[in-house]
Amino acid sequence: MKKILMIKYGELTTKKENINFFISTLKENIKSTLSGMGANITYDKGRMFVTSEEEKYEEIEEKLLHIFGIHEITIGYELKSCNLEEIKEALITLVQSRDFKTFKVETKRSDKSYPYTSLEVSKILGGVVLKNKENIRVDVHHPEVTIYIEIRTSHGYIYFDRIKGLGGYPVGSLGKGLLMLSGGIDSPVAGYLALKRGVRIEALYFDSPPHTSEAAKNKVIELAKKLSTYSGYVKLHVIYFTEIQEAILKNCPHEYLITIMRRMMYRIAEQIANRNNAKVIVNGESIGQVASQTLTSMAAINAVVRIPVIRPVACLDKIDIIELAKKIETYETSILPFEDCCTIFVPDHPVINPIVSKCEEYETAFDFESLVKKAVKEEVVIKIEKGIKEEHQFIL
Ligand code: ATP
Ligand code: MG
Repeated sequence: MKKILMIKYGELTTKKENINFFISTLKENIKSTLSGMGANITYDKGRMFVTSEEEKYEEIEEKLLHIFGIHEITIGYELKSCNLEEIKEALITLVQSRDFKTFKVETKRSDKSYPYTSLEVSKILGGVVLKNKENIRVDVHHPEVTIYIEIRTSHGYIYFDRIKGLGGYPVGSLGKGLLMLSGGIDSPVAGYLALKRGVRIEALYFDSPPHTSEAAKNKVIELAKKLSTYSGYVKLHVIYFTEIQEAILKNCPHEYLITIMRRMMYRIAEQIANRNNAKVIVNGESIGQVASQTLTSMAAINAVVRIPVIRPVACLDKIDIIELAKKIETYETSILPFEDCCTIFVPDHPVINPIVSKCEEYETAFDFESLVKKAVKEEVVIKIEKGIKEEHQFIL
């Protein structure tokens, strides 16, 4: 018998027309996540199986628990055949090395030509366990251990432990989005939620040196690294935003600074998204959280782009966003006290209900189009893969 991890993908199987694409994306994601670990991945009737060297299983399991589209991971043993005698023998060895007082056996047959029904197999094997281990009994309602038997065409499987996976869809199976990633709490969570829906994420950060420091940028890189543990890699676009911010500060009324700044961010985001084949912008806006996130503000900001904007945390309470940030381990990084690009932009009374025509009027005070063009042209791209970062500057 050989140790094996069995992967189940739940929600995928409801997407009938796309199923093959979903499965091949999941397979690719698993393959690239486990590359270099000597893992062998096979596929059989709605399941995937991973085998490797004994000492690698723990690390493989940990990695699989970061892959969207996996519903459940089961750790077990594959037998050479599905012959009942072989299953009995293996089971006797396995139960002897485990400590439990109550158990039940559950059997599934995908091979319907098998000479016994599932119930018969469970009964026979339950009897075998009782006979070969002392002081134990069957408890069908609350067993300490459930022994799962699967009978497939060529092999039998014995499983003990089932671990819940992340669920969702395989990253990339639903196209790509551009995540506006700040150093705050909300946007990494928004990115995680989009990834969970199968959207591959490229990230975009607006950097405003010297108003924002290298440490603030590194914080964003750190957050992108965290997100890359769920997606294999993240391409981070860094936009030099200082000139635009300073032009806004110099030319526009203070209560409109943030609104206009965010309209510039959206314009740039749309261009970067189009250039990289991202179909949507994703960001961490949450209704009512700050002045720029009232519905009127969001509409005035959104008015400058045609691309759809997805706001995964729009309707979540901050406390729930924080809980998610802790779960995905971005929280501790997000709360590091580095300034963000709004620091030079904190008007005493930011407008809560900005008027689009006013924004347009203020924006004519300076040639923002050429500044936006320049900023897009001078983007720096950092590819973050398995914790390694590579930097490229693109001057188009
Ligand atoms: P966060 O906690 O994600 O920083 P926030 O509550 O601070 O969000 P804002 O500063 O208004 O809210 O930003 C709203 C959203 O705009 C952010 O969630 C993020 O998606 C985007 N954003 C803000 N600043 C930047 C930046 N410097 N670079 C990239 N995206 C940004
Ligand atoms: Mg912020």
